Amino acid sequence: MFEYAPAPESRDIVDIKPAYGLFIDGAFTDANNHFKTVNPASEEVLAEISEADSADVDRAVAAARKAYENVWSKLPAAERAKYLFRIARIIQERSRELAVLESIDNGKPIRESRDVDLPLVAAHFFYYAGWADKLEYAVADPRPLGVAGQVIPWNFPLLMLAWKIAPALACGNTVVLKPAETTPLTALAFAEICRQADLPPGVVNIVTGAGETGRALVEHPGIDKVAFTGSTEVGRQIARAVAGTGKRLTLELGGKAANIVFDDAPLDQAVEGIVNGIFFNQGHVCCAGSRLLVQESVAEELLDRLKTRMATLRVGDPLDKNTDVGAINSAAQLAKIRELSQAGDNEGAVRWSPPCELPDRGFWFAPTVFTGVAQSHRIAREEIFGPVLSVLTFRTPQEAVEKANNTPYGLSAGVWTEKGSRILWMAQRLRAGVVWANTFNKFDPASPFGGYKESGFGREGGRHGLEAYLR
Ligand code: NAD
Ligand code: MG
Repeated sequence: MFEYAPAPESRDIVDIKPAYGLFIDGAFTDANNHFKTVNPASEEVLAEISEADSADVDRAVAAARKAYENVWSKLPAAERAKYLFRIARIIQERSRELAVLESIDNGKPIRESRDVDLPLVAAHFFYYAGWADKLEYAVADPRPLGVAGQVIPWNFPLLMLAWKIAPALACGNTVVLKPAETTPLTALAFAEICRQADLPPGVVNIVTGAGETGRALVEHPGIDKVAFTGSTEVGRQIARAVAGTGKRLTLELGGKAANIVFDDAPLDQAVEGIVNGIFFNQGHVCCAGSRLLVQESVAEELLDRLKTRMATLRVGDPLDKNTDVGAINSAAQLAKIRELSQAGDNEGAVRWSPPCELPDRGFWFAPTVFTGVAQSHRIAREEIFGPVLSVLTFRTPQEAVEKANNTPYGLSAGVWTEKGSRILWMAQRLRAGVVWANTFNKFDPASPFGGYKESGFGREGGRHGLEAYLR
């Protein structure tokens, strides 16, 4: 290790208020109950957030309905597009502020919020702004659904908001969105951006709160569509609640992706892809490459190189521009990661982490790799959603496919090989919504994203993403 000077991004650019209301019908209104959002890197309380109850959700849905019927569905599509372009430009203009705010509330490294999340958020709005007046090239006779109820998780708070709101508005729907309870601040900043863009009141409504608020929203009889991103467990509950109501539903759920390295792969590049696959965003990534499948003949060499690389990862202050791995998002998530890692120890897998000093306050977990993992181990089957990699080996391509597909999930996979024909052979057999070849975690708004099996259904992004918001 070598010494380096801390290079923290200044947080002066963000103005966090002591308290926030709900964003309903274009105005901020207080609620009866409140909860706190904290900075997971310091446990500092950042703000008091309003908790929407069912009466608040009622008002938000009514505002969205009124805006849908009186304004948004009546606007020419090219006018809707102008609002989306305007929102995209404001996001770009305020991107440094939004990146800092995201890192403070979520714990992710500023390098990632600045260079990955925010550019993708703006790109998503630009992309769907472009579709708004061209919908008939995507589907025949495009008509909006009405009011969309949208519930999102905490791992990419503003990006998940963009994935939900941009296509919904482009297609002529209005929305009520509930951000996750640990990361409401960028969604509330987005509410301000809607005002700044002069978006008609009620087109976007933001109701903050936890699971009960989410439940009140998805079960509300006044919405036409539910879009949910989060855990498979909650996704199942929502699917049950929505069944038979006539509401449209898309679910983006968990994952347990295989990152598959063949013996002919360029190993140093594969190591970068493995590190990006599991340590990006502390492994709080639904499509994280959380299972490394490595061909037996190169396993030892690859693991040596991986450990050498892991020893250079810097864990710490999310606002430091040198930081590679930030804070775990919450105490509850940290407890879950610890519990599953403990299960790995108990089941006989071998745990390794590089020496690294973790800060005293806040929620932290060192980058970790488990070798000697068997298919039956919990760490090979369950989503850990943290910086923990499980390594399995294989001998033949057929065995790699079988092991990769031996999971209840089917969101993503990575293949590392020099052979183009093998990439295609693998991609045809992997049951995953996205297969990356010689890269990982590459996103573009033009490319659809979504899962098979317990990873959910429906696609976000691209032309396919429009179908979820059109009749
Ligand atoms: P979670 O399911 O606990 O929470 C997600 C959201 O649902 C939160 O806003 C939460 O408040 C809300 N919620 C909780 N209970 C609810 C209920 N009964 N009804 C309605 N809403 C409810 O998930 P999480 O722990 O916040 O997020 C992590 C999970 O999200 C992981 O499993 C991850 O794989 C998944 N995820 C999937 C994708 C994807 O695109 N497939 C993307 C990001 C995260
Ligand atoms: Mg927070």
